Amino acid sequence: MATGMGLVSQVFREESLAPLKGHMAIGHTRYSTTGSCRADNAQPLLVEGPLGPLALGHNGNLVNAEYLRRELEAAGRTFRTSTDSEVIAHLIQSAPDGTWPEKVRYAMRRLEGAYSLVLLTRDCLMAVRDPLGVRPLCLGRVNGGWAVASESCALDHIGGRFVREVEPGEVVLIRGGELESYKEPSPRRALCIFELIYFARPDSLIQGRLLHLARQGMGVGLAREHPVEADLVMGVPDSSIAAAIGYARESGIPFTEGLLKNRYVGRTFIEPDQRLRELGVKLKFNPLPEVLEGKRLVVVDDSIVRGTTTPRVVALLRRAGVKEVHLRICAPPIRYPCFFGVDMARRFELIAAQKTIPQICEQVGADSLGYLSIEGLLRAVDLPREMFCLACFTGEYPIPVQMEMDKLALETLETGRR
Ligand code: SF4
Repeated sequence: MATGMGLVSQVFREESLAPLKGHMAIGHTRYSTTGSCRADNAQPLLVEGPLGPLALGHNGNLVNAEYLRRELEAAGRTFRTSTDSEVIAHLIQSAPDGTWPEKVRYAMRRLEGAYSLVLLTRDCLMAVRDPLGVRPLCLGRVNGGWAVASESCALDHIGGRFVREVEPGEVVLIRGGELESYKEPSPRRALCIFELIYFARPDSLIQGRLLHLARQGMGVGLAREHPVEADLVMGVPDSSIAAAIGYARESGIPFTEGLLKNRYVGRTFIEPDQRLRELGVKLKFNPLPEVLEGKRLVVVDDSIVRGTTTPRVVALLRRAGVKEVHLRICAPPIRYPCFFGVDMARRFELIAAQKTIPQICEQVGADSLGYLSIEGLLRAVDLPREMFCLACFTGEYPIPVQMEMDKLALETLETGRR
């Protein structure tokens, strides 16, 4: 097993991968949500048990991890990391006697929250999705074998073929080239709508929708809900380009590229400290003054979280000579924190939890600001409301999150004391 901190291309070289033997493998890239950002927490994790070793990669976040961890520690399990992912691995390993799928299903009945898992044992590979289906997970075929990935675009890159999504509550077991499926009940679905707005790549399919087209639909919705007189439409690269194309088509205002993205800098809002975020915007975008000078510009962006990145983007455009900046945002105002694996911000840091839309417009320095409504968003993705988690807009969490909220309140208090 090989793990490390940093980008995949920095951590793994041909020499480090060459010694790995076998015909099954799992890999994972993690940004820290539960559990801090340190090397020990890198995945896959390896945990021993009566049926042999179990390696685990986890996307998501549990809401009852601390409770389960205390219970497992009291039963004699020793933890090596601070992650909720290790709780899952220990819970599976400590399940009553049975086969691997039985052990996994036992654990699923105790786990609460979001988890898309890949699990590797000595003789099988398993793909598991929580009953709410918060994070995506899909199955594909490659060279006559099976492959599992968070997003379908990963299968395209390795010459594979998308077969289907792993269903919420499903355990898929792959052994000797054969596939078995087991199901836990899934009475309520809660796919994270942010996967469709921002996280997943535009060339991925979710629920049969190509996200590039779903995002164009968001732009169409924004043009209908928030029309404005302008000369050009641009999207903040890369995630908002498709929505900007949709806005341009619907409004008849020409689309342009206005900011060029430096491809060597990562996502800004998940960078852990404010100084890095501030530096990140400058490093990330370069404007095209010859295109933008003197123009009234519609700027489409995926979301405003803290409201710290957006003013910098607006200022960059103004310095490039833009006359008017009309911001149009695909995600409705984010007023509540996420407890399901998106490390966005605490509630007091969310700008829409603290300010009205006109106040946000003023703070970010735009001439106008329009958010897509929840109804407009659902129309764009063309799927029913009951399928989704919309909790960061509505505060209606798909499962109780009291324990996580208490933890957050305590952290906030401690931050204030320091
Ligand atoms: S709270 Fe928001 S970001 Fe978190 S899972 Fe729900 S929709 Fe996604």
